[in-house]
Amino acid sequence: MTRSASREPVLVELTPRVSTPHLSALSLQVTDACNLACSYCYFYEKEPVAITPEIVDRALDLLAADSAPESTDWHINLFGGEPTLRGDLIDHICRESTRRAAACGKQVTFSMTTNGTRFTPQMLDLITGHDIATMLSIDGNEQAHDRFRRYLDGRGSYRKILENLPRLMQAPHFKVRLTISPMTVEYLSASVEELLGLGIRDIATSPVAEQEWTPAHFAEFAAQWQRVGALYIRERLAGAPVSIKGIDSLDEEEPLSICAGNREYGCGAATSFVFVNVFGDLYPCHRFPGYFSKSEHVRLGSVFTGIDADRRMHYVMANRASSKKGCHAFVGSPGETGACGDCLIQGVCGGSCMAINEFVTGDPTQPPSVPGRLEQIKLEVLTQVHEYLAARAG
Ligand code: SF4
Ligand code: SF4
Repeated sequence: MTRSASREPVLVELTPRVSTPHLSALSLQVTDACNLACSYCYFYEKEPVAITPEIVDRALDLLAADSAPESTDWHINLFGGEPTLRGDLIDHICRESTRRAAACGKQVTFSMTTNGTRFTPQMLDLITGHDIATMLSIDGNEQAHDRFRRYLDGRGSYRKILENLPRLMQAPHFKVRLTISPMTVEYLSASVEELLGLGIRDIATSPVAEQEWTPAHFAEFAAQWQRVGALYIRERLAGAPVSIKGIDSLDEEEPLSICAGNREYGCGAATSFVFVNVFGDLYPCHRFPGYFSKSEHVRLGSVFTGIDADRRMHYVMANRASSKKGCHAFVGSPGETGACGDCLIQGVCGGSCMAINEFVTGDPTQPPSVPGRLEQIKLEVLTQVHEYLAARAG
């Protein structure tokens, strides 16, 4: 992975100070353990530790105390490691969250990201019982996926996912997140074609923007995304329901629902939610403890001692859409030389992921150029696809 030479945090300007937003969600690390050993996983030093009922209780205390009295909804994201390793804890978290939300007069929804290798009939029953929106994280077809997503003994995991796919596809609000790295980009359109052939109709993509993309990688991505656009047209003309994020609609920078921000903030990190790891430590989101090896400078406190208001405010301010400094990559935009606020695709890109920004540039407000360049390619294809479909329709 590419990262800044400096591990020191760059403090953003904290004036004018804004009021701290209320939490409405938590991302809980069910377990640090994973049955795979993906070589690019940002939880580099996995420890076979799971969250405890006490930490879940304390985390829910924190959410109850910090959520706006007038809000009606909570959201709990179940993260790992691989959360399906601990069905007992998934059940506990969902039951407790539902009970505590009801006591506060709120409703709660759940989501989970899984590697799909342990999706047994019992797991499907559990997930369905709690209506947990399920996202399968995959790298593409067998060639792409098994390049990195291997078991500890070196075996690829793609065939196991295919075995479990009929059950995965029955999971609530099932969708696939396709990770695109420079090393697998050549398989992108073949992967999308294979997923469509398997009956998967809801696909989001997530580029590994923290890796180095050369001009050849960008050219390959452009060619591959054009072919994905052609696949989308083929499905639409055949009358098949299909959703490929970035082609049927403007992309979200990150497909995880918990990442979603609002007009004011680039994403939910430190604003609408915090990440609680298996030790009860708090971080802006799931990426921070892994990228920064649980460094104190990205830790926002703990469920036992509460949120450090100043540390959180640092990320709240950094996460404001208006704080992002511009990547100088979006050609044709007034923002080409300015800040993200001047950029034509700021509403799509959001100034990139704050965690990636800090990991690559050392500053959560300074986007690297990779996400903007990829978004630009996607936008060009999106425009061509919809112009073509409109001409055919009319
Ligand atoms: S910082 Fe990045 S990964 Fe974290 S919630 Fe925001 S967009 Fe998602
Ligand atoms: S492409 Fe994204 S990161 Fe680059 S200037 Fe525009 S909004 Fe900012």
